[in-house]
Amino acid sequence: MSVVSASVCAPLAVLGSDVEVPLVSGEKVVYAALDYAASAPALQRVWDDVAAYAPYYGSVHRGAGYLSQLSTDLFEQSRRTVEEFLDLREGDQVVFTRATTDSLNLLAGVLPAGTRVFAFETEHHASLLPWRREGLTVSYLRAPRSHAEAVAALDEALAANPEGPRLFCVTGASNVTGELWPVAELTEVAHRHGARVVLDAAQLAPHHRVSVRELGVDWIAFSGHKLYAPFGAGVLAGRADWLDAAEPYLAGGGASRTVAREVDGSVAVEWQRGPARHEAGSPNVIGAYAVASACRALTEAGFDALQAREQQLIDLLQAGLAQIPEVRVLSLFGTEAARVGVLSFVVQGWNSSHFSAALSAEYGIGVRDGLFCAHPLVRTLLGGEEAAPSECGAPEPSLPGERSLNAIRVSFGAG
Ligand code: PLP
Repeated sequence: MSVVSASVCAPLAVLGSDVEVPLVSGEKVVYAALDYAASAPALQRVWDDVAAYAPYYGSVHRGAGYLSQLSTDLFEQSRRTVEEFLDLREGDQVVFTRATTDSLNLLAGVLPAGTRVFAFETEHHASLLPWRREGLTVSYLRAPRSHAEAVAALDEALAANPEGPRLFCVTGASNVTGELWPVAELTEVAHRHGARVVLDAAQLAPHHRVSVRELGVDWIAFSGHKLYAPFGAGVLAGRADWLDAAEPYLAGGGASRTVAREVDGSVAVEWQRGPARHEAGSPNVIGAYAVASACRALTEAGFDALQAREQQLIDLLQAGLAQIPEVRVLSLFGTEAARVGVLSFVVQGWNSSHFSAALSAEYGIGVRDGLFCAHPLVRTLLGGEEAAPSECGAPEPSLPGERSLNAIRVSFGAG
């Protein structure tokens, strides 16, 4: 979270943006970007690491020259850093992707034919939609209103579908309410039924220490740009067997070990095993390096300290909102679940889009309004009111005073 002075906002003008920097009280400019759940600003430490490496980067895994060797080394070191950050098990793989959406689509592509995927309808669209493809079946579970209800619903669904490969996809922390899900308990139930689990840690990993070993999940996905690294790189990590058995995510150089022309004129390919199998083409070495730098920075800062600071901010925000009778904070689990630094609310008598616009124009407070790429969840939280959303964004604007069809989200980190 940042509240800064006018001079700090000056670069916006230099960038030629048409966006007007808001003035408050004619005296101070307040520019608070409370939208970390969408993307968090990269840490200075990450920019410094990238800048130090930038003059030396080259294409990995191919060149004999010094820069290529250095880049290969840094790329593979970045993989090791992510392994440690996630506390992976022996034999688990780290595949560099573009972001969480890309990671989950990659996983959807390697699932054995006939896999049945289970997901609560409350998921972010990135973990709700990739499974809707030929060869897979999806069972969407109704929104639970408590952790116990979630665990019981999964248990029941898996008991009713005992055959074949099954995957359960769950988000660690909601991008709408910020609430934590009981990942370890759900994983225990899934494993008892012989199903595998993928954790969408897009919102969890920037706020909490995540140990794949302790949670027991089979795969995990997260995005660099929410973890204080710049855009463009993310991670899918976990069990190697299904990754190694499937066709590569993208066909091309790097993913292939040998390619040979057959006597009948066709081409025979032997694919790589290991992460390279799903990283065809020239990988985003700088992106991977930046993700690793962010992982190191968070580890060094210590999640205990970060969480304690963040909790102070959450408490402050909740206490302030509680004093405004018109504000209703959205929650799936009530008081049961702790939350990360993400919170959504509606203001009685206000359209959320207008309210958010006013917060920005009059106070320079940059929140987000909309359905946050989790349409079924927000509709449930708003009590089933029908919205007409644009993808991930706000519904058609209504007049001030009408009931809200969407919500306002405040999100921050302690990074
Ligand atoms: N999962 C959750 C919980 C998210 O909040 C987001 C992004 O907001 C995603 C997945 C998708 O992440 P990305 O847009 O980086 O692919």
